[in-house]
Amino acid sequence: MTPMAAIRHDWTRAEVRELFELPFPDLMFRAQTVHRLHFDPRAVQISTLLSIKTGGCPEDCAYCPQSASYQTGVAAEKLMSCDAVLEEAQAAKGAGASRFCMGAAWRSPKDRDLDAVCAMVTGVKALGLETCATLGMLTPAQAQRLKTAGLDYYNHNLDTSPEFYGEIITTRTYQDRLDTLAHVRDAGIRVCCGGIVGMGESAEDRIGMIATLASLPVHPESVPINMLVRVAGTPLAHGEALDPIDFVRTIAAARIAMPQSVVRLSAGREDMSPETQALCFLAGANSIFYGPRLLTTPNPAPDRDLQLMDRLGLVPMKN
Ligand code: SF4
Repeated sequence: MTPMAAIRHDWTRAEVRELFELPFPDLMFRAQTVHRLHFDPRAVQISTLLSIKTGGCPEDCAYCPQSASYQTGVAAEKLMSCDAVLEEAQAAKGAGASRFCMGAAWRSPKDRDLDAVCAMVTGVKALGLETCATLGMLTPAQAQRLKTAGLDYYNHNLDTSPEFYGEIITTRTYQDRLDTLAHVRDAGIRVCCGGIVGMGESAEDRIGMIATLASLPVHPESVPINMLVRVAGTPLAHGEALDPIDFVRTIAAARIAMPQSVVRLSAGREDMSPETQALCFLAGANSIFYGPRLLTTPNPAPDRDLQLMDRLGLVPMKN
């Protein structure tokens, strides 16, 4: 039997810092070794993300063009109809997606809105797709309702380290995030939780983010690592870009610290070279968002992704 890497929930910051500070060849070797113990290194899970309710969000996340606090040209729209969502889900399935994620720009859903989202979840599931939603903070009862409707995954990112969080968002706390994650987990829904780098955080904040994620009582099944997309009108529009090698290091550290999680190379791929993306896959990333848009920001055109996967000999992961 192939030995598996130990699954630990007691990662200290010092241990995660040691990972980040390894010489790059050693870091990549460790990440590859862990990756190959748990996954087929060629397989990439493909998700599609649809914004089912865009803009006008009362939260003030400094990276987000959908916040009503910033003038970004993103107009507030109503919740999409169930039929329109199912049409998009069918198209995503036809394009090869195995999971369909539905995102709404809410602080937390109203119960009336949740009725509509539950109908969407049940409909998407009936198409044979895995379902994921990101709707803001949830109560335990709301999480349970989504579970009953057939929700497989709930996305709720920790975004950054606990120390840097207040620099990025003032309308909720880190503990609010952890509470919703616990409600989702308690309802029996799988967790999709990661963060964003390149927001002006320090290396120590990236270490703190990975250490926090890897110390959750159960590792998130899916860990999206996003590179900030700097959108005009948001407070982070003019920040300095992160060195792509530091991004790759973050992916590798996530892979080593959470060996069984699918690590998603998420936002920011549009501005990433094929070579940087290839390094991310070598570092243990094994999921991407596929489709021309990620909520409101551009994503590589699907044919560009297929070409890259083909050049690298990667194949879609089977459910
Ligand atoms: S990230 Fe989500 S919660 Fe924050 S402003 Fe954007 S839509 Fe709202």
